[in-house]
Amino acid sequence: MKEIKKVVIVGGGSSAMLATAFISNNTNYEITVIDKPGGSPIGVGEATLLNFKPFMDSCGFNFKEWFDACDATYKTGILFPGWTSKKEVWHPFIMHPYENTPIENFDKNNDNGFHIDCIKLAKFIKEKIKHKVTFIEDTVQFQSENYVQCENNKIYADVFIDCTGFKSLLHQTDKVDLSKRLICDTAIAGHVEYENEEEKRKYVICEAVSCGWIWKIPVRHRIGTGIVFNRRITSVEEAAMVFTNHWKDRVKIRKTIDWTPYYKLKPWKNNVIAIGLSAGFIEPLESTGLALAMEGAYQFVVLTESGYMKQSTRSLYNSILTSFFEESIDFVAMHYLINERKEKIWQEGRRLKKPIQIDYYNKRLKDPLHYKDSQYSFFGGSNWVTWLRQT
Ligand SMILES: Cc1cc2nc3c(=O)[nH]c(=O)nc-3n(C[C@H](O)[C@H](O)[C@H](O)COP(=O)(O)OP(=O)(O)OC[C@H]3O[C@@H](n4cnc5c(N)ncnc54)[C@H](O)[C@@H]3O)c2cc1C
Repeated sequence: MKEIKKVVIVGGGSSAMLATAFISNNTNYEITVIDKPGGSPIGVGEATLLNFKPFMDSCGFNFKEWFDACDATYKTGILFPGWTSKKEVWHPFIMHPYENTPIENFDKNNDNGFHIDCIKLAKFIKEKIKHKVTFIEDTVQFQSENYVQCENNKIYADVFIDCTGFKSLLHQTDKVDLSKRLICDTAIAGHVEYENEEEKRKYVICEAVSCGWIWKIPVRHRIGTGIVFNRRITSVEEAAMVFTNHWKDRVKIRKTIDWTPYYKLKPWKNNVIAIGLSAGFIEPLESTGLALAMEGAYQFVVLTESGYMKQSTRSLYNSILTSFFEESIDFVAMHYLINERKEKIWQEGRRLKKPIQIDYYNKRLKDPLHYKDSQYSFFGGSNWVTWLRQT
């Protein structure tokens, strides 16, 4: 058993800022955040799940303040056009599975997620917590048992939180490769200016196209957008063409991002915890990135409430995070398994490993007992049933 007094968080992207805000507001740990000079956050990740507002509340932030500072808008769900012969499938956040309530009629003040400008989110949080957290600009080179060596500093701590994104600087091991369970591994991201009020939707669009799918996330002053595809099947140049044609040349392309889908079986190992992209990444189809990072920070605080950590704390943390990753992977894979498109990526999508929930919930579409959702779940029965009933 070891007492936790000092925590070092490495990174300056959304996951570092969300984790720092939550831990600093809910513990007495002395926190130092180290981000490399200039910082290089990934700069995507703008649609949230339902845990975003409660999490921000628990960080002590005022709703109206962050809502305005992050150029936020309400997200009532996700629309999936073109995935099946039904043309459109909804994943509404609060629709009762028996009802087909049009999404525009939802009460936007309850039970919704948000679209946020992720760069503004990190900036807002940093400004709000700078009086209680030490921020250092330096490049971390490596971590030894109880310190991180940076270019200009050596900083000691009891726990190190690795929020260095795909680089995963402090925590390189235990990766589970998901390339047989998920199909996409590349995205081209960009911004689009609004042309009319109709485009200011209260939901995300994930539209299936020939080589993958295109997201549209309407924040207040622009649409965040990107095309997601498999680089073995489609080249970056071909995908960029599909993307710009889709937007009729309106899109300003910002960057191409590639990854191998993965998660870490032991995100908490010894005294290092991987949170955010360094803990894993599932393609962004169901907006799980920020939600998983928030869950990581939350579980760390809850499980170390005593101010101590031991082996069982790590084991419990790892099994909880694994279960959140696993259900997210299964839920995303389901979208591909029941697609009805003809192109290569979509044919391969139908051959992914089939999650058992598809048959389970398909047999129980009319049985309300099976819609019960646990608080330890992002995608409980109602999410599966709502999707499957529409296909
Ligand atoms: C295409 C795409 C779309 C996505 N869409 C969504 C979405 O809609 N919703 C959602 O919830 N999630 C989404 N995500 C996930 C989301 O972007 C991430 O979960 C989120 O941005 C958190 O990233 P991060 O902070 O872990 O890593 P990053 O943003 O990559 O931050 C890493 C940080 O580490 C710092 N760093 C690196 N090396 C060092 C070093 N040696 N020393 C010090 N600092 C260092 C960098 O400066 C940077 O600040 C998406 C991801 C992708 C790839």
